[in-house]
Amino acid sequence: MTGTLFARDALLPGGWARDVRLEWDEAGTLSRVNPGAAPEGAPVAAGPVLPGMPNLHSHAFQRAMAGLAETRGHPTDDFWTWREAMYHLVAHLEPEDVGAIARQLYIEMLKHGYTSVAEFHYLQHDRQGKPYADRGELAHRVVDAARETGLAMTLLPVLYVNGGFGHKPLNAAQRRFAGTAESIADLLRELIGHYANEPWLRFGVAPHSARAVDAVQLTELVQAMEGIDATAPIHIHASEQVGEVRECFETQGVTPIDWIMDLAPVDRRWCFVHATHATDEERERMRHAGAVAGLCPTTEANLGDGIFAFAEHFGREGRWGIGGDSHVSRSPLEELRALEYSQRLARQIRNVSSSGTQPEVATNLWLGACAGGAQALGQPIGALLPGRRADIVVLDGGKADFEALAAPATLAVAMFSGAGNPVRDVFVSGRPVVVDGRHRLEDEARGGYRESLRRLRDRT
Ligand SMILES: [Zn+2]
Repeated sequence: MTGTLFARDALLPGGWARDVRLEWDEAGTLSRVNPGAAPEGAPVAAGPVLPGMPNLHSHAFQRAMAGLAETRGHPTDDFWTWREAMYHLVAHLEPEDVGAIARQLYIEMLKHGYTSVAEFHYLQHDRQGKPYADRGELAHRVVDAARETGLAMTLLPVLYVNGGFGHKPLNAAQRRFAGTAESIADLLRELIGHYANEPWLRFGVAPHSARAVDAVQLTELVQAMEGIDATAPIHIHASEQVGEVRECFETQGVTPIDWIMDLAPVDRRWCFVHATHATDEERERMRHAGAVAGLCPTTEANLGDGIFAFAEHFGREGRWGIGGDSHVSRSPLEELRALEYSQRLARQIRNVSSSGTQPEVATNLWLGACAGGAQALGQPIGALLPGRRADIVVLDGGKADFEALAAPATLAVAMFSGAGNPVRDVFVSGRPVVVDGRHRLEDEARGGYRESLRRLRDRT
């Protein structure tokens, strides 16, 4: 729908601008972004206006176990013991659960300022590990949840072949993820045909990780994707865990990102999710290729993964974005805060994500994550610019803490002094999806989510 909005302060790609009149067309694409303008009848935004944030990494179903793996089960609990808890949930999910959890999650994400998501979709089969009558059953559930809630999506069906390095067989839980390069390419063709007229929805592909695909399957999938959509996003988990890096080195003779980059024509389509333990050389290779580092700071902290060398990557203008991953947080402000804090703790200095030209940390972080997220999702988003989608976040300028503050300080307070949600209004494709802090489906979605949790917690 066409629309207009007048922002006393708006965050444009070059920084904050005053008196910006935004205008979008019937398709929800920004047609004019004019600083120094008058409202000319446009509604006036209730606070500083930001480009909507892309969430570049999500496993929606994991929302149902957020905060539920915080009891010691083993003296050295780590990612691998957390994964056992996650597999326990996987074993009990029915399609209606997947839909209900995703709806709840997507509304929470919208309310906190995410306007699009890359869904890394690896739960494919039924509880016995058999394909559903419609093999896209669970993909349709998450796409439906996105459509109903108004969140834009890049759906990435995942190729998951092996249970670990050295062609380890899949275990019982992992059978729900099983596929081949051929079956994933077929699924993608079906989905792309089925959703031909949905401009908010794009498809890409995700070889799961160096431990779950071998060289042949990885190469086949990337080649098949070039025939389906040569510019589609390609995401892969890489170097999240020291154990994974070690095993990769022992079995393949190289570390995971090098292994992937030696095999595949990595370029700007690619997103290396986590990249936590990337070596200096691997980070440089990623940077030269124009690939995005897909950082998931709260999940990585929750899982005890380690700390990505963000200060170095940021300092060299490497591409990066943020993902909610396991959804222990649904807020981009929290993700960016965790990212900056990880660097401060590691380096014992403050205000890491800044530069001589842009000293404002929060502004830098929001703009960087928007740009990298847009690239990783392969959609025209992430900036308030003509030609980009009108995905817009309005902060609540009426909050007491924001009194008499300029816009950069308002965003800093929102990011670094944070109880409560400072987001007031959210637009996706120019459509208001969150108005005065409320999503129109939030009560209904919460009801469905509760029912689903009750069933799941009975079952498990
Ligand atoms: Zn992940």
